[in-house]
Amino acid sequence: MKISGYRVIKGKEQFNHTFGGVNWKTPVCVNCLAPMHLIFCFDLTDPRLNGHYKVKLESLPLVTCLNCSGYWAPQVFQLDPIANAITIVKQTDVEHWIMEDEDKLPVPLPLSNVKLIPLTKKDILLDDLDNDESFTLFGSEYICRLLGPPLFATDKIQKRCSSCSKEMQYIATVCSEDYDSEGLIHEGFSFHIGESFIFFYLCTDCLRLETEMQSTS
Ligand SMILES: [Zn+2]
Ligand SMILES: [Zn+2]
Repeated sequence: MKISGYRVIKGKEQFNHTFGGVNWKTPVCVNCLAPMHLIFCFDLTDPRLNGHYKVKLESLPLVTCLNCSGYWAPQVFQLDPIANAITIVKQTDVEHWIMEDEDKLPVPLPLSNVKLIPLTKKDILLDDLDNDESFTLFGSEYICRLLGPPLFATDKIQKRCSSCSKEMQYIATVCSEDYDSEGLIHEGFSFHIGESFIFFYLCTDCLRLETEMQSTS
């Protein structure tokens, strides 16, 4: 089944999709010892998002710590919709690098409303074309792609749930905004995570959320 994909951009719409804020309680990062970032939170009453999440979840959080090397290696989180809390199941980081204080992104990230607009043809990488334009637009016009085909910077990622072994569902990818297009997601705010693309996957049965990072540098 082909699932439509969306650019996530600054702006208000009828559904309560957000960047930043504290809609979910995030775990404390085991490396830099600060609470992790809630990057985005998607309102699953939105019929454009896959209906079967609604069984157990009202909203879908994208979480990681952006201030250290924690997200450079795969991470596994457990979502608890009753407590509205996220816990760490596994962090595989071995670098243990922590960003300088003056460069750190605030926790929580500033809250803003975001809206979904359909991915354009230019946002979708065709297998048989060397299409750099998709990568140029990602980061210069928007910093989060939700559902649809992922834009892999290197190898294709396929994930199996660490709990039930079923194939996980691709959710979203987050990247930095270019320095000359700051404020894409929150007025007056710069969102930078280097050359990283952070991919998010969900097991809809176990409510496990997993991340994996790829880099273009
Ligand atoms: Zn951290
Ligand atoms: Zn599972």
